[in-house]
Amino acid sequence: MRNVVIVGSGCAGNTAAIYTGRANLKPLVVQGHEAGGQLSITSEVENFPGFPEGILGPDLVENMKKQAIRFGAEYVHGAVLEADLSQRPFRLRVEDEWIETLTLIIASGASARWVGLPNEQKLIGKGVSSCATCDGFFYRGKKVIVVGGGDSAMEEANFLTRFASEVCLIHRRDVFRASKIMLDRARANPKIKFVTDTVIADIHDVEKGHVTGVELRNIVTNQTWHQDVDGFFVAIGHVPNTAVFRGQILTDEDGYILSQGGARTNVAGVFHAGDVQDRVYRQAITASGAGCMAAIEVERFLEAEGH
Ligand code: NAP
Repeated sequence: MRNVVIVGSGCAGNTAAIYTGRANLKPLVVQGHEAGGQLSITSEVENFPGFPEGILGPDLVENMKKQAIRFGAEYVHGAVLEADLSQRPFRLRVEDEWIETLTLIIASGASARWVGLPNEQKLIGKGVSSCATCDGFFYRGKKVIVVGGGDSAMEEANFLTRFASEVCLIHRRDVFRASKIMLDRARANPKIKFVTDTVIADIHDVEKGHVTGVELRNIVTNQTWHQDVDGFFVAIGHVPNTAVFRGQILTDEDGYILSQGGARTNVAGVFHAGDVQDRVYRQAITASGAGCMAAIEVERFLEAEGH
């Protein structure tokens, strides 16, 4: 029987592990399919306080994990494949093994939705990015494209004009999901060029090890063409990793956990941390802060029950 199981090993999960570890709760962290979370697929992180020279994303999460292990956290590979939160102790199936726990912190994050091209995955962190806030800085004076037609795409495109010499926004339709205000702002920005009814057919250049250009196709005329770019920003939404808990905890229609205040979910003893509940900020530092909050709630919850 565990005191606390933490699902997810990104900034939120690792920080929760550090805090619950130091509280002597011997947390078990289920790493998940994307161990290390979003940071593990980022390159340089320059906005996490405490690192004046910046730090590589994978190093930052690895350091957090080491810090948690130092305080007694245990990490297991694999993902939660089944969960029963209907009574306590909660039961979780991690790969083939069932685990029982008094409390649970869901820090399973939200995965960026990708376009789905084979080369896209190979070039993540090498020109392909899902986070302008994280990576925009590296595209000073360069040409980038942003894929998407929602608020995220507008926001990312606008943000990228601070650095890039040219931002081309590619959208698969000519109608936008983005709010009028965000769309108008992007349209008014002289550095942003809109290309609609267009999809990405391929990304180059895996051989060279970084993004050099894209093949585009207009879906109305079927015309295809090549465009040289240095950066490929995907802003087509995120998918919260809550499928395994669906129907057992309250989520919104997209699957994001609905917070009941602090780090609480609607199930007593189950807490949330990080992007799994946050569709707004999605930063390493905010996820870490949320992990700390969830850990403190777990501590208090167990203490109140006399554990
Ligand atoms: P979204 O509103 O769901 O928009 C996703 C966009 O990506 C849509 O335009 C969609 O095209 C496109 N798309 C989806 N799959 C695609 C694919 N496989 N290939 C090409 N394009 C694809 O997602 P979001 O922009 O991330 O926004 C999510 C939520 O956060 C929204 O509620 C939004 O208002 C909010 N948000 C708010 C702010 C803000 O107010 N500052 C900033 C960011 C996000 P279709 O339209 O053709 O489906």
